[in-house]
Amino acid sequence: MKSYTIFCFLTVWISSLFSIGFAIADEPVWDGNTVVLMSEKLAEGVYAFYPDNAHDLAPQGLPIATSGGFIIGDKGVLIIDTMLNKRLNSQVQSMIGAVTKKPILYALNTSYHGDHSYGNMYLPSDTKIIQHINAKAYIDKHFKADTEFMIKNFGAGRGIEEIVPRTGDILVPAEGKLVIDLGGKSVEVIDFGFAQTGGDLFVWEPESKVMWTGNPIIAIKPSLPWLLDGHLIETLATLNRVYDFLPPDARIVPGHGPIMGRNDIPWHIVYLRTVKQNVQKAVDQGLTLEETVEKVKMEKFKGYALFNWVHPGLNVPAAYHDLKNKK
Ligand SMILES: [Zn+2]
Repeated sequence: MKSYTIFCFLTVWISSLFSIGFAIADEPVWDGNTVVLMSEKLAEGVYAFYPDNAHDLAPQGLPIATSGGFIIGDKGVLIIDTMLNKRLNSQVQSMIGAVTKKPILYALNTSYHGDHSYGNMYLPSDTKIIQHINAKAYIDKHFKADTEFMIKNFGAGRGIEEIVPRTGDILVPAEGKLVIDLGGKSVEVIDFGFAQTGGDLFVWEPESKVMWTGNPIIAIKPSLPWLLDGHLIETLATLNRVYDFLPPDARIVPGHGPIMGRNDIPWHIVYLRTVKQNVQKAVDQGLTLEETVEKVKMEKFKGYALFNWVHPGLNVPAAYHDLKNKK
């Protein structure tokens, strides 16, 4: 229920974002009808995919379409994130078909967000869908509102209208971990705690030391976390756990960008920690939410194109509610 309320709140914010001319007016931040995906081989049978403009956009802090990947074992394939629409999902299936004829055994969604999960319906009927139990619960309850929200923000005529939900056959419980045996490759699926939606899964391939994070890590600096559903303190703790889990030479496929390293994660952690410290000061001084937003500017992090939306609109309020409730 809570996430639904905030989702409506988000719609208002994104609409005003467009109207103040952040992006091209009435255009989505990225267009599911034009994005072209490319794949990158990270190790034998381990591939990432991301938009072909991701390398240009990420260092500029500009919005990038969804990233994901696939892992091929002796028995078959696991897809990580199935994309927004049929067009993008078929690009994923073509990339897989270009390197293996093995069946797609599993497809995992790092969250319920449509750009990570709407493509589920286009996969073979015997592919098993893997989701966090909370992601399935969200889709079961809010699918109609979710697609309306997505059409509003990613545009009509982007293939969202035809989406029907296809939810998890295999559900990862809260704080759970799952090991998927693809044949000669064991892939770990881990819930590290609340990271953006409360139904967030991270994928770890231990042999190649590659992790898929989904949205909790959007891309390299200067991108920042989007606390759409609040919970700044828990998110900070979760990102610290993820960072501690990773070996120094791990490679990371973030939710919306090209490959990054473990050393790119502290930027996100330092940002959240700084928000927490500054908002704590404001709460201690008895400031209201509006006064806190006004005070906690953190200009150092302004390089992210969506800063004026995520920082005052989502992240500072998330910290304020967390810290206020703690008192
Ligand atoms: Zn996303």
